Amino acid sequence: MNRRVVGLQARFLLVMGVAFVLVAAILALLLERQTAMQREVGAVSGSVIRGLFERSVRSRGEALSAELADSLANPLYYSDLDTIGVLARNTARQHVVSYVMVFDAEGLLVHDGSQEIAGYGQPMRDPLAARAVAGGGMVTQESAEVLEVSRPIMVGRERIGGVRVGMSLARVRELEAAANLNLAARLQAMGKRHLGWLVLLLAVLVATAAVVASYVERTLVRPIRWLAAAARQIEAGDYDIGTPKVRRNDELGELIEAFGRMSQGIARHDREIRHMAYTDALTGLTNRPAFREALDHRLIGTLGTSRQLALLFADIDDFKRINDTLGHEAGDEALVQFAGRISRAVGLIDEQDPLVARFGGDEFVILIQDGDVARAAARLADLLVQEMARPLVIQDREVFLGISIGITLYPDDGSDATTLLKNGDIAMYQAKTAGKNCHRFYSRAMDHAVERRMHMEYELRNAWARKEIHLVYQPIFRIADRAMVGVETLMRWQHPELGAIAPAVFIEIAEQTGLIETIGPKVLEAACHEAMRWPLPASGEPLFVSVNVSPRQLRTSDLDRVVARILDESGLPASRLHLELTETAVVGDELQASSLLAKLHRTGVKVWLDDFGTGFSGLNHLRQVPVDGVKIDKSFVADMQRDPDDLALTSAVISMAHSLGITVVAEGIEQEVQLQLLRERGCELGQGYLFSHPLRSEELVRLLQSPA
Ligand code: C2E
Ligand code: MG
Ligand code: MG
Repeated sequence: MNRRVVGLQARFLLVMGVAFVLVAAILALLLERQTAMQREVGAVSGSVIRGLFERSVRSRGEALSAELADSLANPLYYSDLDTIGVLARNTARQHVVSYVMVFDAEGLLVHDGSQEIAGYGQPMRDPLAARAVAGGGMVTQESAEVLEVSRPIMVGRERIGGVRVGMSLARVRELEAAANLNLAARLQAMGKRHLGWLVLLLAVLVATAAVVASYVERTLVRPIRWLAAAARQIEAGDYDIGTPKVRRNDELGELIEAFGRMSQGIARHDREIRHMAYTDALTGLTNRPAFREALDHRLIGTLGTSRQLALLFADIDDFKRINDTLGHEAGDEALVQFAGRISRAVGLIDEQDPLVARFGGDEFVILIQDGDVARAAARLADLLVQEMARPLVIQDREVFLGISIGITLYPDDGSDATTLLKNGDIAMYQAKTAGKNCHRFYSRAMDHAVERRMHMEYELRNAWARKEIHLVYQPIFRIADRAMVGVETLMRWQHPELGAIAPAVFIEIAEQTGLIETIGPKVLEAACHEAMRWPLPASGEPLFVSVNVSPRQLRTSDLDRVVARILDESGLPASRLHLELTETAVVGDELQASSLLAKLHRTGVKVWLDDFGTGFSGLNHLRQVPVDGVKIDKSFVADMQRDPDDLALTSAVISMAHSLGITVVAEGIEQEVQLQLLRERGCELGQGYLFSHPLRSEELVRLLQSPA
């Protein structure tokens, strides 16, 4: 990934550099060629100059000697030494002439241009003399120092002597050297001028390159770099790439514009996807992953500060009932309304930036921060419970739903999101266990309770198969004559380690986990088979057996068919089986309840409404639900003689039941007084420790067989 990027500009500069080096090399070569040429030109012109000088010296010598031979004829003839001297001196005075010698016909020196004429009348002894004297015409000969041209001096046809003109070669060389020097200087000057031009050319080249480089930098490299940086930015998830400083209307400008539009498009898509990914589609609230992220953020934000957070975990009570009875569409509608109410309630409390999220299903989580969060959370929880007291209107029906809320605080209960969410869940669970429609703050003790409960849940799964669960039967008596007429079947769980677990505890677990749906029918089956073995009681009428049926069993299984099958298999007459449904199971949806009750009635069994008075349905409710009897809850019976309200209600229930023609059973009769009060009010049946505790089947059989 860590690829080395060789930038456009770097490449360009490299190319420019190479070009520059090449040009410099060419220049150096040119320079070298120039000096070589200068040298050659020097050499050639040197030899030309030499030839030139040589020729000019020779022709000069020839001209001078010819002129002298001419003008010396007469003076020599007349031996006029003075004139000869003047002529010789005049010629010898010339710069390039080294000497002038005049000699007679015998070759003796007549004059050498000097005043004293040192060798007068004597033969000339220098090396060139012999040939000069002997020569019949012009003789040219050369020594190291001189080029000598000699000619005979003639008078008519007679040779009267001769003249020797020595041209000084040293002087000629001086002149030649001067000429060469001059030429070299000119050549050098010319070379310098050339070099100047070349340097200027190079400078122009470099300047052009610099201008082109900066132009390329500005028009190509910079925008492309900008595009690359923008692309990296987009890749990193930052879509705000802005626009480059310079606007341009060429292809690159178009590319940049297209790039900008593309990034905006990606940003929009990203926003949409984020929105989709972070929002609960049904309620429009924040969803679980988004909430997690936000919570993590806020937790980081509180680090090093004394700020607190409160997390409220809200779960709708018995929400499944809506889905099961009214359908999923109604369930969705309920959730939407519910979400609306939560948001409204959250808006009512004066909290900074609260966060409401749906955690899936019927779970909602609210995060509040700053200030006294514990108090604010409790207030909000109360407010939510209040809000839920008003019925939701779904598909023209009024539906009552409760809400259980668990509250956990940061940093008191946990320092990370996972722990806080777990704690909130535990606290919510405790709120449910505490009777629902309330709130609970998380405490460490809950962890243990939850663990225990989870363990129990696990153990309960196979408790029936391991025969840890057994049934007991509590006799039900006719109050008028204390005759045993039936029994209520009650479940008992004896765990090898945990001991006897209260039905209130494990039945709640069985209900919540759905285990009751498998255990319930087994209880029904076992009770029916057992009842077939019981002897007749003293009254002679066979005992009825009443079995508790969980609300969950009503909702999910086809109870009427199960009942019919069990009756068929066990052979128990339908009239001997009573089903106890709780008031809450049939509240809220009378229509559905009525149709189910009608189906059950068709099988021939009797249906009783259990725990009557503990729900909130009110007496009127009895009219709408076609049951065969009601069981007054033991809490009313227990308080009857002390609390006039309870006595009044018991009385009202009994008389209303009678007016509807249904049976009344009183539960939990422990004292004679209670029995007395009930008997006075005409309550038909009763059960309680006063008569008998729940008994094992064998004990019941023994009781039935013992003489009264
Ligand atoms: P429930 O149907 O109202 O049952 C009556 C409860 O009152 C039983 O408690 C019984 O032992 C108790 N009881 C009877 N006489 C007296 C008395 O004189 N004084 C007092 N204080 N209590 C008395 P238990 O057995 O603990 O059962 C509690 C609840 O568990 C039952 O209430 C019933 O709702 C549920 N339950 C028990 N067995 C089953 C079952 O097989 N299936 C279902 N679905 N629920 C069951
Ligand atoms: Mg019962
Ligand atoms: Mg009861």
